[in-house]
Amino acid sequence: MSSPANDHRDGPRDECGVFGIYAPDQDVARLTYFALFALQHRGQESAGIATAPRGGDILTIRDQGLVPQVFNDHMLSSLAGDLAIGHVRYSTTGSSAWENAQPIYRADRRTIALAHNGNLINAVELHAELRGRDVPFSSTSDSEIIAALLATHPAERIEDAVADVLPRLRGAFSTVVMTEDSVVAFRDPQGVRPLSLGVIEQDGVGPVYCVASETCAFDIVGARFLRDVAPGEVVTLNDEGVQSRIIEDRARRAFCVFEYIYFARPDSRMGGQRLQVSRARMGEILWREAPVEADVVIPIPDSGNAAARGLARAAGLPQDDGFIKNRYVGRTFIQPGQQLRRLGVRLKFNPLPEVVAGKRLVVVDDSIVRGNTTRQNMRMLREAGAAEIHLRISSPPIKHPCHYGIDMSTYEEMIAHGRTVEEIAAELGVDSLHYLSLEGVYEAVGGERGSHCDACFSGQYPLEGSEEANGKFALERALPLAGVQRLP
Ligand code: SF4
Repeated sequence: MSSPANDHRDGPRDECGVFGIYAPDQDVARLTYFALFALQHRGQESAGIATAPRGGDILTIRDQGLVPQVFNDHMLSSLAGDLAIGHVRYSTTGSSAWENAQPIYRADRRTIALAHNGNLINAVELHAELRGRDVPFSSTSDSEIIAALLATHPAERIEDAVADVLPRLRGAFSTVVMTEDSVVAFRDPQGVRPLSLGVIEQDGVGPVYCVASETCAFDIVGARFLRDVAPGEVVTLNDEGVQSRIIEDRARRAFCVFEYIYFARPDSRMGGQRLQVSRARMGEILWREAPVEADVVIPIPDSGNAAARGLARAAGLPQDDGFIKNRYVGRTFIQPGQQLRRLGVRLKFNPLPEVVAGKRLVVVDDSIVRGNTTRQNMRMLREAGAAEIHLRISSPPIKHPCHYGIDMSTYEEMIAHGRTVEEIAAELGVDSLHYLSLEGVYEAVGGERGSHCDACFSGQYPLEGSEEANGKFALERALPLAGVQRLP
């Protein structure tokens, strides 16, 4: 895993995306492949698909890399079946090595494949309990703990095993699990990470149901969004259609407010809204909160695009492309190293002097975690001749780690931790800086304080014990002690 110091990405790292479908006699592997392709933004380190013919064996293919790098036509043809689940991953707990790619396959008391988005905050305790029962592990991911609890559970039906295990899990978990004859999807009782239910309707064929982290995965496979899987709900897809059970219904909901700002694709719908629309609204509010005399609005592509559009509209200012982005810089890209960095290698963004020279710029982005790339970008704008730079960020300052599946786990990584906005502006070399207020975020998404998780901004964790747990590092430390072997 690259360190913050040499990582060209400045935003929080995405988490994972999951998909599941029950569609007898259809090409479930290809449907899952396309759904994962739509969810690629949620995880670029590994991808995997598990399929099974009804009553037959589960077959899993997973590997490190992007979805089109992992699968070819031949592989998809070999994954014949009637039901399937899929996963794209950015590691949040566990290392990024192959053994942590998902779906996880386990053959204990029952055979299952499982794909998980989120992070358990009681992983260490559950892991110790399972090790006490001599349950073996082959990965360092907390997802395998959920898989082990379900695969070793004595209940005859998988949905009963889920109903029993769900209340024992603490943290964020939007999960899909498959046996030889059912796909079961479940979500933590506070609904931290997204999970939605969709249907494919075709003439002459009964409805086909699927679940996905985001609705953009439904669009690509021709499914219609039905509803969100409710917090604490277990949804079973099988020969009988869709069945639902609410296992836990907590008053305090904690859907991640950062999904609206940054993680999810702008064409996905969450909380009844198209995210492109909510993000433009954030831009409008950002302008209302901090107007400034300026000539042109410049987004940091693509993360700032929607908010910049809203801000420019509200300000009555023109919007232009101040940066051209190289879209092919991925996580596996060779880093330029210190010497080339000093020479000012413009790896990802290149400014357009014709747009920015002599202008008073309002530069818009959606978030800043470390600030390294932002600082570099602001310097490039100055070198390209910008007269003034007024930076506007469509989220509040990130000051606290996330314990629910987003990789921004240490205070040292955060430029806003322990600094005032004025100090951050000086650090970044801008003339003025304004972050959208938390009230502004809630106004844009149509919620109110206490209705979502906003802990990385507010420090108020919706789940007790989150700060002590810090699942990522605790689990990483605990597993080697518990005798887990890591593959080379
Ligand atoms: S801490 Fe932040 S990123 Fe993590 S779930 Fe809460 S709002 Fe989302």
